[in-house]
Amino acid sequence: MKYKEGQAHFRKRIYKLVNILYDIGRPVLKIYDISMKIREGMLVYPGNPNPRITRYSKIPRRSTNESLISLGSHTGTHVDAGLHVSNSGYTADMIPLRSFMGRCRVIDLTHCGNEIHGHDLKGKINRARIVLLKTNNSTKQYKRFRKDFAHVSMDAAKYLISAGVKTMGIDYLSVKKFGTDDDVHALIINRMTLFEGLCLRDVPGGQYTFLGLPLRIATDGAPARAILLKET
Ligand SMILES: [Zn+2]
Repeated sequence: MKYKEGQAHFRKRIYKLVNILYDIGRPVLKIYDISMKIREGMLVYPGNPNPRITRYSKIPRRSTNESLISLGSHTGTHVDAGLHVSNSGYTADMIPLRSFMGRCRVIDLTHCGNEIHGHDLKGKINRARIVLLKTNNSTKQYKRFRKDFAHVSMDAAKYLISAGVKTMGIDYLSVKKFGTDDDVHALIINRMTLFEGLCLRDVPGGQYTFLGLPLRIATDGAPARAILLKET
């Protein structure tokens, strides 16, 4: 009996070893969460409402905990819709699902200035339909609002469109220069799907699979959970 138990134990160890060797040869999927955490007191664009999370049903008074969530449509990581820049613009629920997923290029622009230009992007798109711009905002993060955040210039917006980019994202709460450049904002929103408020600090430049799903809601923008997948 003891001999048999020993045999079974040995067999288990062999199986374990075989599985480990099998895993070594297989690609491992690395997942990056590139979404801001939604919480009260988080950084919002000046003039936007602060998120409120109120527990209206509490255990033990009631059988469940439930909360009322109050958010601006451009809170944290979000998608912008046409209605944001025009009363006749499309709403977030109308954006086709295919804009929210696919092969993606993260372009490292952390050593560029605050104004991203077309020449900064030259040769870096590699026919990607989804492009995320990692600027020096990622180094500074979302600690406090800075008016001098890195943003996209008109010639960079035009470069992205002419390169066939369908979805773009940036690592700040706005894509355009603070207080101006409304035409850049409108051009990007009308010609591409725009994600703002991405967290790219820990993401090296390169190729990924992007997945960013905003809430299906008929508004001028919608908060989204965005991730990047990388086979290593
Ligand atoms: Zn927005």
